[in-house]
Amino acid sequence: MTPEDAWALVAALAAEHRVAAWGATTLDRLRTDDFLLPTDTLSRLTHAVSLALPLLPAVLATLTDRPNRLYEHHYRQTNFALDRLGLALGRAIQDSGYAALPIPASQIVDWENQRGHLSHKRVAVAAGVGWLGRNNLLVTPAHGAQIRLITVLTDLPLPTSAPTRRDCGDCRACLEACPGHAIGETPMDFDHLACFARLKEFQRRRDVGQYICGLCVRACTGGRPTTNVER
Ligand code: SF4
Ligand code: SF4
Repeated sequence: MTPEDAWALVAALAAEHRVAAWGATTLDRLRTDDFLLPTDTLSRLTHAVSLALPLLPAVLATLTDRPNRLYEHHYRQTNFALDRLGLALGRAIQDSGYAALPIPASQIVDWENQRGHLSHKRVAVAAGVGWLGRNNLLVTPAHGAQIRLITVLTDLPLPTSAPTRRDCGDCRACLEACPGHAIGETPMDFDHLACFARLKEFQRRRDVGQYICGLCVRACTGGRPTTNVER
């Protein structure tokens, strides 16, 4: 398969599933020694496809000062949709004679360190889907951080996308929105412990049944006006 045909295969699936943004990278552009995957498996795969599905602004608009059940349900359903997208893309790649390994959208495999098989965010940055924002989330030009991600590893010979040169610029909307005061000037300043303490508090109060919040997601439109969120 030519790189152009490989690109067209993924593009068709992305359009069918209403993907907000997607891109591809080679694995040698990424640090993979901390991927929680068998070395043999990784050695056979050369590329990663990163795909983002948008969250619905009307659901995010129901968040005020805490997460709620509507957001929790939407978060889970979006993860299911991402996993179905990963499966569909994996099958299409397999049918073309190549290998595909969809990585679950939200699955913890290292409970002590709260880590999945790999960082979807890190893959997305390398694949040019967006940049790492002050809120430590992947921020896309069109939807801000109001997306969720999935990764499919493959040996399909895809053309790669260049990482974006955009960044948060003058925007600091998420700093004001964060009830845990966890967000700083750069992603390096992000206070994971302060964020997690607030997530535990939300769960302890039974606002939601899992460690999610959504307030810095709601606040982030990638530096654009917030009219689509407030509607
Ligand atoms: S998830 Fe909530 S507590 Fe954590 S950084 Fe975002 S807004 Fe702050
Ligand atoms: S809300 Fe603004 S500062 Fe925060 S991550 Fe998004 S674009 Fe960056």
